[in-house]
Amino acid sequence: MTPLARILGTRIKLGGPITIAEYMAEALGHPEHGYYRRRDPLGAAGDFTTAPEIGQAFGELLGLWCADCWEQMGRPRPVRLVELGPGRGTLMADALRAATVMPGFRQAIDLHLVETSPTLRARQLEALGDAAWHDRFETVPAGPMLLIANEFFDALPVHQFQATAAGWRERLVALEAGGEGFRPALASAASPAAALISPTLDPAGLPPGSVVEVAPAGIALAAAIGARLTADGGAAVIIDYGHAASAAGDTLQAVRGHRRHPVLAEPGAADLTAHVDFAALGRAAARSGARVHGPVTQGAFLRALGIEARTAALKAEATAGQAEAIVTGGRRLIDEAEMGNLFKVLALCAPDLPPPDGFAAGRSPK
Ligand code: SAH
Repeated sequence: MTPLARILGTRIKLGGPITIAEYMAEALGHPEHGYYRRRDPLGAAGDFTTAPEIGQAFGELLGLWCADCWEQMGRPRPVRLVELGPGRGTLMADALRAATVMPGFRQAIDLHLVETSPTLRARQLEALGDAAWHDRFETVPAGPMLLIANEFFDALPVHQFQATAAGWRERLVALEAGGEGFRPALASAASPAAALISPTLDPAGLPPGSVVEVAPAGIALAAAIGARLTADGGAAVIIDYGHAASAAGDTLQAVRGHRRHPVLAEPGAADLTAHVDFAALGRAAARSGARVHGPVTQGAFLRALGIEARTAALKAEATAGQAEAIVTGGRRLIDEAEMGNLFKVLALCAPDLPPPDGFAAGRSPK
């Protein structure tokens, strides 16, 4: 039993079953035993790998995307460059290096990183030098902003609901009879988070047992970002795996050592993620006044930004040994069978900005 399993077990014994969202929030963010608190989960020796760790072109193209938005914004100085969940700081280091091609942009950047893990904050300091760190987006100072979030929203807690004859009922985490482990349970009455389920999803019209997920924390964050962009100007790009339209499906998964792990086993020892409902994020940001573009697939977005030319240029400068990894990595980011299709890109913009690079109605693809 993990120390966190003991803590959650006691809580359930005293207070009754907890929601999946509470289980997920504690498994990832418990101040002492949460998954992200103690370790660097990235890379071959860790639990999973992300796009910026696969190829430098990913962060570079996002840096150029930001530079282009900055120009469209009228070159504000300073501009807050914000990253949510920067991991090892790899994406931002690549983005900042690429950003120097736009005269004046690098000097205008005031860097803000939203990160709760002390271990990863230390890695980010190493990779980026000085920056301002925040536990949450809300404390980033006001002002024109460019924001990047890669594989961040998938770590925010989701509630799960199951279709029953009586309507949606929330899925809960209860204790197994012997008290030694956790088991799924169903709430006996309606719960408040059900109000966030898309009205297009009618439990009576779905096969019994169908599951839907809602992420109040993600929705509230998209609303806050949208409000900030509307008030102060700027753009945000959100990249994650997920679905373009709100749909039924149990997508909560645990991963440890690059393998699937049972969701309710050993909380705190495995990563937990759920697919991002981009439609729900877009609706929340639009209600705050922001313009919403996409989602488009990661493959289409990176192609429009010129990843193929960038990969070819990197390959030309590389040694034979590196060239192979550059080509494989570049392909992995955009291939439909790999990250190209499952991963989506959503842009949120201040209402006065034109559609940004990489979106269908955007300016000329490079
Ligand atoms: N963007 C990076 C890392 C993705 S992993 C990359 O693409 O490689 C998720 C990141 O979000 C980690 O840095 C993790 O510590 C951070 N994180 C997860 N939940 C968080 C939360 N609720 N608040 C702030 N940071 C969080």
